Amino acid sequence: MPRQLMKDESIFYKSLLDNLYDGVYFVDRDRRITYWNKGAERITGYAAAEVLGKHCFDNILMHTDREGKSLCRGVCPLAGCINDRRERSADIYLKHKDGHRVRVNVRVATMLDDKGAVVGGIEIFTENMPAAAAIERLAELERIAYIDSLTGLPNRRYAEITLHARMDELQRYGWLFGVIFIDIDNFKSVNDRYGHQCGDEVLKTVAKTLQNSVRSFDVISRWGGEEYLAVIANVEGDELVATANRCRALVEGSFIPAVPSLRVTISLGATLASRADSVDAIVTRADRFMYESKKAGRNRVTADQLRGRQVDDHR
Ligand code: GH3
Ligand code: MG
Ligand code: MG
Repeated sequence: MPRQLMKDESIFYKSLLDNLYDGVYFVDRDRRITYWNKGAERITGYAAAEVLGKHCFDNILMHTDREGKSLCRGVCPLAGCINDRRERSADIYLKHKDGHRVRVNVRVATMLDDKGAVVGGIEIFTENMPAAAAIERLAELERIAYIDSLTGLPNRRYAEITLHARMDELQRYGWLFGVIFIDIDNFKSVNDRYGHQCGDEVLKTVAKTLQNSVRSFDVISRWGGEEYLAVIANVEGDELVATANRCRALVEGSFIPAVPSLRVTISLGATLASRADSVDAIVTRADRFMYESKKAGRNRVTADQLRGRQVDDHR
């Protein structure tokens, strides 16, 4: 049954070609299109029925080079390949049925009959996003994944990655770091009294002030709702408390343009990481100290360097 097998094989290969993600088409020696797969339909917008039997230079794809010079009547890679049998690859532009240009990488080769005579050519083309654009897009996606869209601060995911990195450094090299948990005081009443939009303005103003209160290599993130988390690198106890207190004072001294009379304050919990810590344990401790600040009257810093007591040198 070898003939039957051949037929099955050709059906298999046709189906494979039909469903290839890349565009594939065949032309005969006169560059008349004899085959057009689904990938070609997707990339060009032309259905097989619209192009079969036409010449590839019949104003269909109108291949051009980067400068817009037509390749169809001059240096068509497919024609060149049919003439000299040499395979070619080029970055060119084709015309989509809707009119716009699509950048593609094309590879062309000759089709030979069983006696080795050239019977036509095959072109395979792949959508070719410029490498720089693809990298830019990746960078943008990455940026979006780690940035809080309201405040522009790094988000919680980014803060967690930072915490793990600092923890690694502490354990390997002994580089100290501290964490400050920050929560806006009575924020619900801001929303209730002035509206959610004003609440959002407060979140943005506090974010900017906090960012300006720390050094460039410290990370201030939006941890959630009206909570922020600061990861302060290369710091000792007193400095950490001083940083937390500077954040507190600068927020207290900020203004919300929409409601100039509104005074916003924050409660903070600051703690130094130790080698035996886990990331969860540090954050929980800082959160607990923040809560101590709330209980003690808000607008203050609680820190382990103070043995769990508060700094309220603003009074
Ligand atoms: P406390 O001083 O004890 O922290 O009181 P609080 O009112 O700040 O705390 P509570 O947890 O009761 O309220 C937090 C509020 O923050 C409730 C929620 O609606 C609001 N909130 C959370 N995320 C956003 C946001 O993205 N925008 C706005 N406008 N409000 C938010
Ligand atoms: Mg809260
Ligand atoms: Mg709050």
